[in-house]
Amino acid sequence: MIHRPIYLDCHATTPVDPRVLEAMLPFFTQYFGNAASVGHTYGWEAEAAIQQARATLAEAIQATPEEIVFTSGATEANNLAIKGVAEAYFSQGRHIITVQTEHNAVLDPCRYLQTLGFEVTYLPVQADGLLNLADLEQAMRPDTILVSVMAANNEIGVLQPLADIGACCRSHQVLFHTDAAQAIAKIPLDVQAMQIDLMSLTAHKAYGPKGIGALYVRRQHPRVRLAPQLHGGGQERGIRSGTLYTPQIVGFATAVALGLDEIATETQRLTTLRESLWQTLQELPDIHLNGHPLQRLPGNLNLSVAGVDSQALLLGLQPVVALSSGSACTAAKTQPSHVLQAIGRSPELAAASLRFGIGRFNTPPEIDRVATTVIATITSLRGTSPRYQPSEPPLLQIEQ
Ligand SMILES: *Cc1c(COP(=O)(O)O)cnc(C)c1O
Repeated sequence: MIHRPIYLDCHATTPVDPRVLEAMLPFFTQYFGNAASVGHTYGWEAEAAIQQARATLAEAIQATPEEIVFTSGATEANNLAIKGVAEAYFSQGRHIITVQTEHNAVLDPCRYLQTLGFEVTYLPVQADGLLNLADLEQAMRPDTILVSVMAANNEIGVLQPLADIGACCRSHQVLFHTDAAQAIAKIPLDVQAMQIDLMSLTAHKAYGPKGIGALYVRRQHPRVRLAPQLHGGGQERGIRSGTLYTPQIVGFATAVALGLDEIATETQRLTTLRESLWQTLQELPDIHLNGHPLQRLPGNLNLSVAGVDSQALLLGLQPVVALSSGSACTAAKTQPSHVLQAIGRSPELAAASLRFGIGRFNTPPEIDRVATTVIATITSLRGTSPRYQPSEPPLLQIEQ
């Protein structure tokens, strides 16, 4: 087999776990029916599999099966949540609160709503990437209808205090949406304890297939109203029309169930790998950790490396290791990451970042090899870079 680079880009996507693929396969060729065909066994088989998947996913987040609406992924779920709430509640208010470090699949629907006359507050974050609850409290207005704060950041892995945010929203009677694309099956999520009203999920960041996700929509205390964004056959209680994609739905639920089964051991294993990588890379001078050191996804390490261009660095590393400087969705743009700028990184350090996403199939020898390669590549690039001047201690203290 041709040698391929070590994959450390698990925030962009993950491979499908072979156990997930196995569960999906019969639903392509054998049980291929349309779940909406109510008159024969092909339809019933698909419907039964989907009901089971819905129950598995609901249980994973302490919801009920009726509260799960399948979508094509987290982008669609975020759009449905934000635009769907805006359209259903605009007579009550037109103010939405979100955070500067959100994924573009949250920021762009918010910007779109501004063109329709909604007002959006984009809250800043602290230097560690966490939202300050006092800022949220202060931003609440009588006409606020929705707060959208992500569970886990896709660049710096920071985990927002969902339960505190949920409590704040509930006390103001404002709906709380969270984009949990990076969090599902990685950290515990409980829509009851965290008082979450809407939650976006996707399968492909958690060893499930691409093209499938879900929106959790609370049906009690309070019952969330949502204006559909896709109209048609009336599937998913009219909230999201379109023939349900049985194999992907089965794969999604299988992936989430497997992830939760293994969450304790995997969290520990990934944290150990991440810490060992960070420990080794600190041999390099002028390298900075982005985001809170502990309150982050176990497989996430995000660093700014002074004096190197991250594109040159990624190119130098790519024969050995596949990783990104930041979000895959914004990687095509040459602008420095909006997340790193929001945590106060200079444009230079924001443009010189490396995002390591360690996953289920990475091994300790792979991480050792990556550490050695990263050190050698940075040292060599700095040696030829006129921009790099080693800083003398004491260094300007920008670590949090
Ligand atoms: C990947 C990602 C998305 C987009 O999810 P898709 O299922 O690919 O549409 C949205 N939000 C966050 C935080 C993500 O990491």
